Amino acid sequence: MNMYIVKTIYIKHLPFVTSRIVICTARSLSCCTLPRAYRLRREDSERRGRCYELQTSNFHTSQKLQLSPIVTLAACTFLQFGSVASGYYLRQWWLRRTPDEQAKYRRRYYKRRRILLGSMGLFTSILLIYYTMHLEMDPVVQRPRFVIFNEEDQATLGNMILTMLLVKYKEDIIPISDPVYSKLTKILRKLANANKDVFKNTHWTISVVNAPSMTNAMVLPSGNVFVFSGIFNVVENDDQLTFVLAHEMSHVLLLHTMEILSYTVLKELAYVLPTFLIWACFSRTKALGVYLGAGFLHKVLVQFPYQRQLELEADEVGLELAAKSCIDVREVLLFWEIMKKYSDLTGESQFEMPILMTHPTHMYRNTRLAHQMPRAFDLREKAGCPKLPKLDLQKELERYTKDLEERFQKQEMFVTVSP
Ligand SMILES: [Zn+2]
Repeated sequence: MNMYIVKTIYIKHLPFVTSRIVICTARSLSCCTLPRAYRLRREDSERRGRCYELQTSNFHTSQKLQLSPIVTLAACTFLQFGSVASGYYLRQWWLRRTPDEQAKYRRRYYKRRRILLGSMGLFTSILLIYYTMHLEMDPVVQRPRFVIFNEEDQATLGNMILTMLLVKYKEDIIPISDPVYSKLTKILRKLANANKDVFKNTHWTISVVNAPSMTNAMVLPSGNVFVFSGIFNVVENDDQLTFVLAHEMSHVLLLHTMEILSYTVLKELAYVLPTFLIWACFSRTKALGVYLGAGFLHKVLVQFPYQRQLELEADEVGLELAAKSCIDVREVLLFWEIMKKYSDLTGESQFEMPILMTHPTHMYRNTRLAHQMPRAFDLREKAGCPKLPKLDLQKELERYTKDLEERFQKQEMFVTVSP
């Protein structure tokens, strides 16, 4: 049975939510009664048979090695620190040796170099095998992805982050009585219902954070959507808001958080040996420079492009999800134009350096989505949506831009959604 639960989390219940999550971490397996969901029994009077379905993910059917994301990441960080420390102390030890001793150790190394190089090769091979064994084909975008965590890890991680965010935004979460919740709930339900084929059992929650200067939204791997109130100053209508939420839902659907975490673990393991060699071969200052430089290069050449690619993927899938819910997909293009205008007005775009950004520029996203429009129209038609009226995009854009500029000049951009 497909279930779509759209609920809001009221900050008043924070201690309750926190304790539920802690219990969940410890008891997730004992409460698991469905293959795609795990349930949580409460410790109090409601324990008698009543379980809370917290989260399930989609598609991830293969059994993965049981690795807690937090423990794994902590272990990798420790490993990196260990390779820095051991490399540094090996160098110090080496410098304290006399030239004769150094020559003796060189000879020893020369005799055993094959064993050492072979060990390095074996370690690299194990990593490669581990990588290929955990590659799986994403059923939505049909590309291989590397994921080492399973759906329970995803739920545990999502709930841990949820607790932290609820604490962080404790004072800023807009009360559930605010009409904005009914609007968002309606949109989320519509999206979920229009995409029943892909959202089998995902349970969504919405929290709206009063942050007028933040024009974005985000989603946790467990399906908890956080919308920052600044976004309401930019979106012109529900169609645009639907796309924003669909983009966030796509991140969950495509397991992006778990994929990023899996790559982080792989990267940390792959860098253990080079890090050790950097600190063993160079003086402290040089080693620090090379280490930081390599980290920066990795970000610019690998990490940021990869994250930008995931954003484009979420845009593309988000557009499809939104199109199936019968929005006017042309509004998506106008949305990115308005976002660009907003960045110009606030001066944010002045500091934009695409190569150093984790997200593509607004205009690049606009261009990419413009290419997806024929498919979006097609999906609308297949979903039986009503025909779209004629629309002069240029005129609409001028109207939205004027509207945005007027609000900006009146400083209404910084008014919260709730009176
Ligand atoms: Zn995103």
